[in-house]
Amino acid sequence: MISDLEAMRRAIELARTHLGQTAENPAVGCVLVRDGVIVGEGVTGIGGRPHAEETALDMAGKSAAGARAIVTLEPCAHRTTGREACADRLIAAAVTEVVVSCTDPSVHAAGEGVARLELAGIPVRLGFLKEEASVLYVDYRPS
Ligand SMILES: [Zn+2]
Repeated sequence: MISDLEAMRRAIELARTHLGQTAENPAVGCVLVRDGVIVGEGVTGIGGRPHAEETALDMAGKSAAGARAIVTLEPCAHRTTGREACADRLIAAAVTEVVVSCTDPSVHAAGEGVARLELAGIPVRLGFLKEEASVLYVDYRPS
């Protein structure tokens, strides 16, 4: 059984592996936990794509339904060319809760990611282990 603390530390560890290699996008780590077991995990791809949540959801497949998502940064809310917003993908995958460490001040999220999830009935826990995860985003200056 993996605890939220362990899952978030794993997500931070994942994010750290691509820190500084994700272009203008922040390095994010995402871990999907279902029944205490990791069913998917991801980190922002080199160059900024895919997003951590996309990789984790792809890995989990149908197991994402009923899982909880532990993410170092707020999921994005804006659809961009060729891809859905992570908040929408998490909703479509039927995760039961999203635990977020840091909020994303960029125009692609800025509270909208959290709002979208909550509107869909998915509880969001914000600020979990923020002291540790925020180290990842000291140089993140979104436009
Ligand atoms: Zn995203």
